[in-house]
Amino acid sequence: MSKEVGITVSKNENFSEWYTQVVLKAELADYAPVKGLIVLRPHGYAIWEAIKSSLDEKLKKSGHENGFMPILIPESLLSKEKTHFKGFNPEVFWVTHSGENELGERLALRPTSETLVNSLYSKWIKSWRDLPLKINFWNSALRAEIKATKPFLRTSEYLWQEGHTVHSTEEEAEQEVMDILEIYKKTIEEELAIPLITGKKSENEKFVGAVYTNTMEAIMPDGKGLQMGTSHFLGQNFAKPFEVKFLDKNNVENYGWQTSWGVSWRLIGAMIMVHGDDRGLVMPPKVASIQVVIVPIYYSGDDRKDIIAKADEAQKRLQEKKIRVRVDKRDELTPGFKFNEWEMKGIPLRIEIGPKDLAKNKVVLVRRDTQKKTDLQFDKIDTVVASTLDEIQKNLFDNAKKILKEKTTEVDDYEDFKTQLEKGMFLKAPWCGNQKCEEKIKNETGADIRVIPFNSENTESKCVICKSSSEVIVIFGRGY
Ligand SMILES: [Zn+2]
Repeated sequence: MSKEVGITVSKNENFSEWYTQVVLKAELADYAPVKGLIVLRPHGYAIWEAIKSSLDEKLKKSGHENGFMPILIPESLLSKEKTHFKGFNPEVFWVTHSGENELGERLALRPTSETLVNSLYSKWIKSWRDLPLKINFWNSALRAEIKATKPFLRTSEYLWQEGHTVHSTEEEAEQEVMDILEIYKKTIEEELAIPLITGKKSENEKFVGAVYTNTMEAIMPDGKGLQMGTSHFLGQNFAKPFEVKFLDKNNVENYGWQTSWGVSWRLIGAMIMVHGDDRGLVMPPKVASIQVVIVPIYYSGDDRKDIIAKADEAQKRLQEKKIRVRVDKRDELTPGFKFNEWEMKGIPLRIEIGPKDLAKNKVVLVRRDTQKKTDLQFDKIDTVVASTLDEIQKNLFDNAKKILKEKTTEVDDYEDFKTQLEKGMFLKAPWCGNQKCEEKIKNETGADIRVIPFNSENTESKCVICKSSSEVIVIFGRGY
Protein backbone atom coordinates (compact mmCIF):
# COMPACT_ATOMS: atom_id res chain seq x y z
CA MET A 1 0.00 0.00 0.00
CA SER A 2 1.38 3.41 -0.86
CA LYS A 3 2.21 5.86 1.91
CA GLU A 4 -0.69 8.16 1.10
CA VAL A 5 -3.29 5.39 1.20
CA GLY A 6 -2.04 3.57 4.29
CA ILE A 7 -1.64 4.86 7.84
CA THR A 8 1.68 6.74 8.03
CA VAL A 9 2.18 6.80 11.81
CA SER A 10 2.15 3.99 14.33
CA LYS A 11 -0.52 3.72 17.01
CA ASN A 12 2.12 3.50 19.73
CA GLU A 13 4.15 6.48 18.61
CA ASN A 14 1.52 9.05 17.70
CA PHE A 15 -1.83 7.92 18.97
CA SER A 16 -3.74 11.10 18.18
CA GLU A 17 -2.56 11.36 14.57
CA TRP A 18 -3.06 7.60 14.12
CA TYR A 19 -6.68 7.97 15.25
CA THR A 20 -7.45 10.79 12.85
CA GLN A 21 -5.90 8.91 9.94
CA VAL A 22 -7.97 5.78 10.69
CA VAL A 23 -11.19 7.81 10.77
CA LEU A 24 -10.44 9.48 7.44
CA LYS A 25 -8.72 6.64 5.56
CA ALA A 26 -11.15 3.91 6.63
CA GLU A 27 -13.82 6.30 5.29
CA LEU A 28 -15.77 6.46 8.54
CA ALA A 29 -16.18 10.23 8.61
CA ASP A 30 -14.94 13.49 7.13
CA TYR A 31 -14.80 17.11 8.25
CA ALA A 32 -17.83 19.26 7.41
CA PRO A 33 -17.61 22.77 5.91
CA VAL A 34 -18.58 24.24 9.31
CA LYS A 35 -15.82 24.04 11.92
CA GLY A 36 -16.52 21.58 14.71
CA LEU A 37 -18.89 19.42 12.68
CA ILE A 38 -18.26 16.12 10.92
CA VAL A 39 -19.98 14.13 8.21
CA LEU A 40 -20.61 10.45 8.75
CA ARG A 41 -19.79 8.34 5.68
CA PRO A 42 -21.65 5.07 4.93
CA HIS A 43 -18.97 2.84 6.48
CA GLY A 44 -19.17 4.86 9.72
CA TYR A 45 -22.93 5.17 9.65
CA ALA A 46 -23.27 1.38 9.31
CA ILE A 47 -21.51 0.99 12.67
CA TRP A 48 -23.87 3.52 14.25
CA GLU A 49 -26.80 1.59 12.78
CA ALA A 50 -25.51 -1.64 14.33
CA ILE A 51 -25.21 0.00 17.77
CA LYS A 52 -28.60 1.61 17.32
CA SER A 53 -30.41 -1.56 16.33
CA SER A 54 -28.88 -3.54 19.20
CA LEU A 55 -29.87 -0.92 21.78
CA ASP A 56 -33.23 -0.24 20.20
CA GLU A 57 -34.22 -3.88 20.43
CA LYS A 58 -33.22 -4.10 24.09
CA LEU A 59 -34.98 -0.84 24.97
CA LYS A 60 -38.20 -1.92 23.28
CA LYS A 61 -38.08 -5.30 25.02
CA SER A 62 -37.91 -3.50 28.35
CA GLY A 63 -40.99 -1.41 27.63
CA HIS A 64 -39.56 1.75 26.07
CA GLU A 65 -41.04 3.43 23.01
CA ASN A 66 -39.47 5.81 20.52
CA GLY A 67 -40.62 9.37 19.87
CA PHE A 68 -39.36 12.51 18.17
CA MET A 69 -38.78 16.03 19.52
CA PRO A 70 -37.95 19.12 17.42
CA ILE A 71 -34.47 20.62 17.47
CA LEU A 72 -35.49 24.17 18.51
CA ILE A 73 -36.18 25.01 22.16
CA PRO A 74 -37.40 28.49 23.23
CA GLU A 75 -35.06 30.25 25.66
CA SER A 76 -37.82 30.67 28.25
CA LEU A 77 -38.21 26.90 28.39
CA LEU A 78 -34.51 26.08 28.41
CA SER A 79 -33.92 28.48 31.30
CA LYS A 80 -36.77 27.17 33.46
CA GLU A 81 -34.55 24.86 35.52
CA LYS A 82 -31.85 27.28 36.65
CA THR A 83 -28.88 25.02 37.47
CA HIS A 84 -29.42 23.07 34.28
CA PHE A 85 -29.49 26.25 32.20
CA LYS A 86 -26.42 27.69 33.86
CA GLY A 87 -24.52 24.49 33.10
CA PHE A 88 -25.45 24.36 29.44
CA ASN A 89 -25.68 28.05 28.49
CA PRO A 90 -22.02 28.55 27.44
CA GLU A 91 -22.35 25.74 24.86
CA VAL A 92 -25.73 26.62 23.37
CA PHE A 93 -26.14 27.64 19.72
CA TRP A 94 -28.90 30.24 19.34
CA VAL A 95 -31.20 30.89 16.40
CA THR A 96 -32.05 34.59 16.40
CA HIS A 97 -33.54 35.21 12.95
CA SER A 98 -35.97 33.70 10.49
CA GLY A 99 -34.99 35.11 7.13
CA GLU A 100 -34.32 38.81 7.76
CA ASN A 101 -36.70 39.06 10.70
CA GLU A 102 -35.40 39.02 14.23
CA LEU A 103 -37.27 36.53 16.37
CA GLY A 104 -39.12 37.77 19.44
CA GLU A 105 -37.40 35.10 21.52
CA ARG A 106 -34.11 33.31 20.94
CA LEU A 107 -34.39 29.63 20.07
CA ALA A 108 -31.77 27.17 21.25
CA LEU A 109 -30.54 24.31 19.09
CA ARG A 110 -31.15 21.36 21.42
CA PRO A 111 -28.17 20.72 23.71
CA THR A 112 -30.33 18.02 25.37
CA SER A 113 -34.12 17.68 25.60
CA GLU A 114 -35.01 17.57 29.32
CA THR A 115 -36.80 20.93 29.26
CA LEU A 116 -38.72 20.30 26.05
CA VAL A 117 -39.68 16.79 27.07
CA ASN A 118 -40.93 17.91 30.47
CA SER A 119 -43.04 20.74 29.10
CA LEU A 120 -44.92 18.06 27.15
CA TYR A 121 -44.89 15.34 29.79
CA SER A 122 -46.70 17.77 32.12
CA LYS A 123 -49.53 17.80 29.56
CA TRP A 124 -49.57 14.09 28.84
CA ILE A 125 -49.44 12.78 32.38
CA LYS A 126 -52.63 13.10 34.43
CA SER A 127 -52.91 10.05 36.67
CA TRP A 128 -51.03 7.00 37.93
CA ARG A 129 -52.50 5.13 34.95
CA ASP A 130 -50.22 7.13 32.63
CA LEU A 131 -47.11 5.87 34.43
CA PRO A 132 -44.47 4.72 33.95
CA LEU A 133 -43.88 6.79 30.84
CA LYS A 134 -40.71 5.58 29.10
CA ILE A 135 -39.82 7.33 25.83
CA ASN A 136 -36.54 7.26 23.94
CA PHE A 137 -35.46 9.70 21.24
CA TRP A 138 -32.89 8.96 18.51
CA ASN A 139 -31.64 12.36 17.45
CA SER A 140 -28.64 14.65 17.57
CA ALA A 141 -27.57 17.22 20.14
CA LEU A 142 -25.59 20.42 19.62
CA ARG A 143 -23.08 21.82 22.07
CA ALA A 144 -20.47 24.30 20.84
CA GLU A 145 -16.96 22.86 21.06
CA ILE A 146 -14.22 25.41 21.38
CA LYS A 147 -11.36 22.91 21.33
CA ALA A 148 -10.10 21.30 18.12
CA THR A 149 -12.51 18.80 16.56
CA LYS A 150 -11.85 15.12 17.12
CA PRO A 151 -14.25 13.00 15.08
CA PHE A 152 -16.68 11.01 17.30
CA LEU A 153 -15.05 12.35 20.48
CA ARG A 154 -15.26 16.12 20.30
CA THR A 155 -17.69 17.65 17.82
CA SER A 156 -20.30 20.38 18.11
CA GLU A 157 -23.07 18.10 16.91
CA TYR A 158 -23.32 14.41 17.64
CA LEU A 159 -25.71 11.54 17.12
CA TRP A 160 -27.07 9.97 20.27
CA GLN A 161 -30.16 8.63 21.91
CA GLU A 162 -31.75 10.29 24.91
CA GLY A 163 -34.23 8.43 27.06
CA HIS A 164 -36.63 10.29 29.37
CA THR A 165 -38.82 8.44 31.84
CA VAL A 166 -41.34 9.30 34.55
CA HIS A 167 -42.29 6.95 37.40
CA SER A 168 -44.75 7.07 40.26
CA THR A 169 -42.18 6.13 42.92
CA GLU A 170 -38.60 7.00 43.71
CA GLU A 171 -37.65 3.30 43.94
CA GLU A 172 -38.97 2.55 40.50
CA ALA A 173 -37.08 5.47 38.95
CA GLU A 174 -33.85 4.41 40.67
CA GLN A 175 -34.35 0.87 39.39
CA GLU A 176 -34.76 2.26 35.86
CA VAL A 177 -31.41 4.07 36.16
CA MET A 178 -29.75 0.72 36.96
CA ASP A 179 -31.66 -1.26 34.32
CA ILE A 180 -30.56 1.14 31.60
CA LEU A 181 -26.93 0.90 32.71
CA GLU A 182 -27.22 -2.88 32.38
CA ILE A 183 -28.66 -2.60 28.85
CA TYR A 184 -25.82 -0.28 27.81
CA LYS A 185 -23.21 -2.54 29.38
CA LYS A 186 -24.49 -5.58 27.52
CA THR A 187 -24.28 -3.87 24.13
CA ILE A 188 -20.89 -2.28 24.76
CA GLU A 189 -19.17 -5.33 26.26
CA GLU A 190 -20.77 -8.07 24.20
CA GLU A 191 -20.95 -6.30 20.84
CA LEU A 192 -18.34 -3.54 20.80
CA ALA A 193 -16.05 -5.79 22.86
CA ILE A 194 -15.05 -3.00 25.25
CA PRO A 195 -14.90 -3.80 29.00
CA LEU A 196 -16.39 -1.20 31.35
CA ILE A 197 -16.13 -0.01 34.91
CA THR A 198 -19.57 1.03 36.12
CA GLY A 199 -20.41 3.23 39.06
CA LYS A 200 -21.36 6.79 40.03
CA LYS A 201 -20.03 10.20 39.07
CA SER A 202 -18.88 12.50 41.88
CA GLU A 203 -20.99 15.57 42.79
CA ASN A 204 -18.61 17.73 40.75
CA GLU A 205 -18.85 15.60 37.65
CA LYS A 206 -22.56 14.67 37.66
CA PHE A 207 -25.08 15.88 35.05
CA VAL A 208 -26.27 19.41 35.80
CA GLY A 209 -29.76 19.06 37.22
CA ALA A 210 -29.46 15.41 38.29
CA VAL A 211 -29.63 14.06 41.85
CA TYR A 212 -26.90 11.64 40.82
CA THR A 213 -25.36 10.23 37.65
CA ASN A 214 -24.42 6.63 37.01
CA THR A 215 -21.68 6.16 34.47
CA MET A 216 -19.69 3.65 32.45
CA GLU A 217 -16.00 4.26 32.01
CA ALA A 218 -13.58 2.61 29.58
CA ILE A 219 -9.84 3.02 29.30
CA MET A 220 -8.21 3.83 25.98
CA PRO A 221 -4.78 2.50 24.97
CA ASP A 222 -3.15 5.90 25.65
CA GLY A 223 -4.27 5.63 29.28
CA LYS A 224 -7.05 8.21 29.06
CA GLY A 225 -10.54 7.43 30.24
CA LEU A 226 -13.58 7.70 28.02
CA GLN A 227 -17.06 8.15 29.45
CA MET A 228 -19.12 5.69 27.43
CA GLY A 229 -22.59 6.72 28.54
CA THR A 230 -24.56 7.97 31.51
CA SER A 231 -27.85 7.27 33.25
CA HIS A 232 -29.18 10.01 35.51
CA PHE A 233 -31.56 9.92 38.45
CA LEU A 234 -33.31 13.30 38.26
CA GLY A 235 -35.46 12.89 41.34
CA GLN A 236 -38.13 15.61 41.13
CA ASN A 237 -35.67 18.33 40.05
CA PHE A 238 -37.41 18.79 36.71
CA ALA A 239 -40.86 17.53 37.72
CA LYS A 240 -41.30 20.45 40.13
CA PRO A 241 -40.47 23.46 37.88
CA PHE A 242 -42.23 21.81 34.93
CA GLU A 243 -45.17 20.56 37.00
CA VAL A 244 -44.98 16.95 35.89
CA LYS A 245 -47.69 15.75 38.30
CA PHE A 246 -50.07 12.82 38.58
CA LEU A 247 -53.04 11.82 40.71
CA ASP A 248 -52.26 8.65 42.66
CA LYS A 249 -54.73 5.87 43.48
CA ASN A 250 -56.04 7.89 46.45
CA ASN A 251 -56.63 10.90 44.21
CA VAL A 252 -53.73 12.74 45.82
CA GLU A 253 -51.53 14.89 43.55
CA ASN A 254 -47.82 13.90 43.40
CA TYR A 255 -44.78 14.95 41.41
CA GLY A 256 -43.31 12.29 39.13
CA TRP A 257 -39.88 10.72 39.69
CA GLN A 258 -37.65 10.95 36.64
CA THR A 259 -34.62 9.59 34.82
CA SER A 260 -32.74 10.51 31.67
CA TRP A 261 -29.93 8.63 29.93
CA GLY A 262 -27.91 8.53 26.76
CA VAL A 263 -25.09 7.11 24.70
CA SER A 264 -23.63 8.75 21.61
CA TRP A 265 -21.47 7.97 18.60
CA ARG A 266 -18.55 8.36 20.98
CA LEU A 267 -18.85 4.59 21.19
CA ILE A 268 -17.52 4.42 17.61
CA GLY A 269 -14.52 6.50 18.69
CA ALA A 270 -13.90 4.07 21.54
CA MET A 271 -14.12 1.09 19.20
CA ILE A 272 -11.54 2.63 16.86
CA MET A 273 -9.11 3.42 19.67
CA VAL A 274 -9.43 0.14 21.56
CA HIS A 275 -9.26 -2.33 18.67
CA GLY A 276 -7.54 -0.55 15.75
CA ASP A 277 -3.92 -1.21 14.72
CA ASP A 278 -1.26 0.13 12.36
CA ARG A 279 -3.11 -1.27 9.36
CA GLY A 280 -6.29 0.62 10.27
CA LEU A 281 -9.64 -0.17 11.77
CA VAL A 282 -10.49 -3.51 13.42
CA MET A 283 -14.22 -4.11 13.80
CA PRO A 284 -15.71 -6.61 16.24
CA PRO A 285 -17.75 -9.03 14.07
CA LYS A 286 -21.01 -8.25 15.87
CA VAL A 287 -21.04 -4.60 14.78
CA ALA A 288 -19.41 -5.08 11.36
CA SER A 289 -21.78 -4.37 8.46
CA ILE A 290 -19.57 -6.68 6.38
CA GLN A 291 -18.18 -9.55 8.45
CA VAL A 292 -16.46 -11.43 5.64
CA VAL A 293 -15.05 -10.19 2.36
CA ILE A 294 -14.30 -12.70 -0.38
CA VAL A 295 -11.49 -11.72 -2.75
CA PRO A 296 -11.35 -13.83 -5.92
CA ILE A 297 -7.79 -14.07 -7.34
CA TYR A 298 -7.39 -14.63 -11.05
CA TYR A 299 -4.70 -13.67 -13.54
CA SER A 300 -6.40 -14.44 -16.83
CA GLY A 301 -9.89 -14.25 -18.23
CA ASP A 302 -9.99 -18.05 -18.37
CA ASP A 303 -9.89 -18.45 -14.61
CA ARG A 304 -12.24 -15.58 -13.83
CA LYS A 305 -15.55 -17.28 -14.55
CA ASP A 306 -14.90 -20.39 -12.44
CA ILE A 307 -13.38 -18.52 -9.55
CA ILE A 308 -16.17 -15.95 -9.40
CA ALA A 309 -18.69 -18.81 -9.47
CA LYS A 310 -16.94 -20.41 -6.51
CA ALA A 311 -16.88 -17.08 -4.65
CA ASP A 312 -20.61 -16.65 -5.26
CA GLU A 313 -21.22 -20.16 -3.98
CA ALA A 314 -19.22 -19.37 -0.84
CA GLN A 315 -21.23 -16.19 -0.36
CA LYS A 316 -24.49 -18.11 -0.63
CA ARG A 317 -23.38 -20.71 1.90
CA LEU A 318 -22.35 -17.99 4.36
CA GLN A 319 -25.51 -15.95 3.86
CA GLU A 320 -27.56 -19.01 4.73
CA LYS A 321 -25.83 -18.88 8.12
CA LYS A 322 -26.83 -15.19 8.41
CA ILE A 323 -23.22 -14.08 7.96
CA ARG A 324 -22.83 -10.64 6.33
CA VAL A 325 -20.57 -11.17 3.35
CA ARG A 326 -19.44 -9.36 0.20
CA VAL A 327 -17.61 -10.63 -2.90
CA ASP A 328 -15.17 -8.02 -4.21
CA LYS A 329 -15.49 -8.39 -7.99
CA ARG A 330 -13.77 -5.16 -9.03
CA ASP A 331 -11.64 -6.15 -12.03
CA GLU A 332 -9.66 -2.93 -12.18
CA LEU A 333 -7.94 -3.49 -8.81
CA THR A 334 -5.24 -5.99 -7.86
CA PRO A 335 -5.90 -8.53 -5.06
CA GLY A 336 -3.13 -6.89 -3.00
CA PHE A 337 -4.84 -3.50 -3.19
CA LYS A 338 -8.12 -5.05 -2.15
CA PHE A 339 -6.52 -6.82 0.83
CA ASN A 340 -5.13 -3.53 2.09
CA GLU A 341 -8.37 -1.66 1.58
CA TRP A 342 -10.49 -4.19 3.49
CA GLU A 343 -7.88 -4.38 6.24
CA MET A 344 -8.00 -0.59 6.54
CA LYS A 345 -11.78 -0.78 6.84
CA GLY A 346 -11.52 -3.41 9.56
CA ILE A 347 -13.48 -6.28 7.99
CA PRO A 348 -13.04 -9.16 10.49
CA LEU A 349 -12.38 -11.99 8.00
CA ARG A 350 -11.06 -12.29 4.45
CA ILE A 351 -11.46 -15.30 2.21
CA GLU A 352 -9.13 -15.68 -0.76
CA ILE A 353 -9.94 -18.02 -3.64
CA GLY A 354 -7.29 -18.49 -6.36
CA PRO A 355 -6.74 -21.02 -9.17
CA LYS A 356 -4.73 -23.40 -6.95
CA ASP A 357 -7.38 -23.25 -4.24
CA LEU A 358 -10.05 -23.99 -6.79
CA ALA A 359 -8.16 -27.08 -7.97
CA LYS A 360 -7.88 -28.38 -4.40
CA ASN A 361 -11.45 -27.36 -3.46
CA LYS A 362 -10.21 -25.14 -0.65
CA VAL A 363 -10.01 -21.46 0.31
CA VAL A 364 -7.62 -19.32 2.37
CA LEU A 365 -9.01 -17.68 5.50
CA VAL A 366 -7.28 -14.56 6.91
CA ARG A 367 -8.17 -13.06 10.29
CA ARG A 368 -8.04 -9.26 10.60
CA ASP A 369 -7.24 -9.27 14.33
CA THR A 370 -4.26 -11.66 14.30
CA GLN A 371 -3.40 -11.67 10.55
CA LYS A 372 -3.34 -15.47 10.84
CA LYS A 373 -3.81 -17.35 7.54
CA THR A 374 -5.30 -20.84 7.35
CA ASP A 375 -6.28 -23.20 4.56
CA LEU A 376 -9.84 -24.40 4.76
CA GLN A 377 -11.71 -27.15 2.93
CA PHE A 378 -14.54 -25.56 0.97
CA ASP A 379 -17.14 -27.93 2.45
CA LYS A 380 -16.45 -26.63 5.94
CA ILE A 381 -16.62 -22.97 5.05
CA ASP A 382 -19.86 -22.04 6.80
CA THR A 383 -19.18 -23.70 10.15
CA VAL A 384 -15.54 -22.62 10.36
CA VAL A 385 -16.27 -19.02 9.37
CA ALA A 386 -19.03 -18.78 11.97
CA SER A 387 -16.83 -20.14 14.75
CA THR A 388 -13.87 -17.98 13.69
CA LEU A 389 -16.04 -14.85 13.88
CA ASP A 390 -16.95 -15.84 17.44
CA GLU A 391 -13.27 -16.33 18.25
CA ILE A 392 -12.38 -12.90 16.87
CA GLN A 393 -15.15 -11.29 18.93
CA LYS A 394 -13.84 -13.00 22.07
CA ASN A 395 -10.20 -12.28 21.30
CA LEU A 396 -10.87 -8.54 20.91
CA PHE A 397 -12.70 -8.40 24.23
CA ASP A 398 -9.96 -10.38 26.01
CA ASN A 399 -7.28 -8.06 24.63
CA ALA A 400 -9.22 -4.99 25.72
CA LYS A 401 -9.66 -6.51 29.17
CA LYS A 402 -5.91 -7.05 29.35
CA ILE A 403 -5.31 -3.36 28.56
CA LEU A 404 -7.77 -2.31 31.28
CA LYS A 405 -6.01 -4.55 33.79
CA GLU A 406 -2.49 -3.49 32.80
CA LYS A 407 -3.34 0.19 32.87
CA THR A 408 -5.07 0.23 36.25
CA THR A 409 -2.99 0.44 39.39
CA GLU A 410 -3.58 1.06 43.09
CA VAL A 411 -1.96 4.05 44.78
CA ASP A 412 -2.25 5.56 48.24
CA ASP A 413 0.50 8.16 48.05
CA TYR A 414 0.19 11.45 46.12
CA GLU A 415 3.75 11.43 44.73
CA ASP A 416 3.24 7.91 43.48
CA PHE A 417 -0.10 9.06 42.08
CA LYS A 418 1.58 11.71 39.93
CA THR A 419 4.31 9.36 38.69
CA GLN A 420 1.83 6.68 37.68
CA LEU A 421 -0.46 9.21 36.02
CA GLU A 422 2.40 10.38 33.81
CA LYS A 423 2.84 6.77 32.71
CA GLY A 424 -0.73 6.85 31.41
CA MET A 425 -2.38 4.86 34.17
CA PHE A 426 -5.85 4.68 35.68
CA LEU A 427 -5.43 5.13 39.43
CA LYS A 428 -7.43 3.35 42.07
CA ALA A 429 -7.08 5.57 45.11
CA PRO A 430 -8.80 6.17 48.43
CA TRP A 431 -10.71 9.45 48.67
CA CYS A 432 -12.23 11.23 51.67
CA GLY A 433 -15.26 12.46 49.73
CA ASN A 434 -14.24 16.12 50.05
CA GLN A 435 -14.57 18.17 46.85
CA LYS A 436 -11.50 20.21 47.83
CA CYS A 437 -9.28 17.15 47.45
CA GLU A 438 -10.89 16.33 44.12
CA GLU A 439 -10.33 19.89 42.88
CA LYS A 440 -6.73 19.97 44.10
CA ILE A 441 -5.96 16.85 42.06
CA LYS A 442 -7.68 18.27 39.02
CA ASN A 443 -5.85 21.58 39.21
CA GLU A 444 -2.44 20.06 39.87
CA THR A 445 -2.53 17.03 37.58
CA GLY A 446 -5.44 17.34 35.15
CA ALA A 447 -6.89 14.07 36.42
CA ASP A 448 -10.44 13.80 37.71
CA ILE A 449 -12.61 11.18 39.32
CA ARG A 450 -13.68 9.12 36.33
CA VAL A 451 -15.97 6.84 38.26
CA ILE A 452 -16.79 5.79 41.81
CA PRO A 453 -17.23 2.04 41.25
CA PHE A 454 -20.29 0.42 42.84
CA ASN A 455 -19.60 -1.17 46.22
CA SER A 456 -16.28 0.61 46.64
CA GLU A 457 -16.99 2.03 50.11
CA ASN A 458 -13.82 1.90 52.17
CA THR A 459 -13.25 3.63 55.48
CA GLU A 460 -10.07 1.81 56.44
CA SER A 461 -7.69 3.76 54.20
CA LYS A 462 -6.39 7.32 54.13
CA CYS A 463 -7.35 9.85 51.43
CA VAL A 464 -4.58 10.03 48.79
CA ILE A 465 -4.50 13.83 49.18
CA CYS A 466 -5.35 14.94 52.70
CA LYS A 467 -4.65 11.68 54.57
CA SER A 468 -7.89 11.85 56.53
CA SER A 469 -10.10 8.74 56.61
CA SER A 470 -11.30 7.57 53.24
CA GLU A 471 -14.93 7.06 52.24
CA VAL A 472 -14.48 5.22 48.98
CA ILE A 473 -11.87 3.87 46.58
CA VAL A 474 -12.35 5.77 43.31
CA ILE A 475 -10.83 5.69 39.84
CA PHE A 476 -8.84 8.77 38.92
CA GLY A 477 -7.53 9.43 35.44
CA ARG A 478 -7.23 11.92 32.63
CA GLY A 479 -10.13 11.82 30.28
CA TYR A 480 -11.27 12.63 26.75
ZN1 LIG B 1 -9.12 14.14 51.13
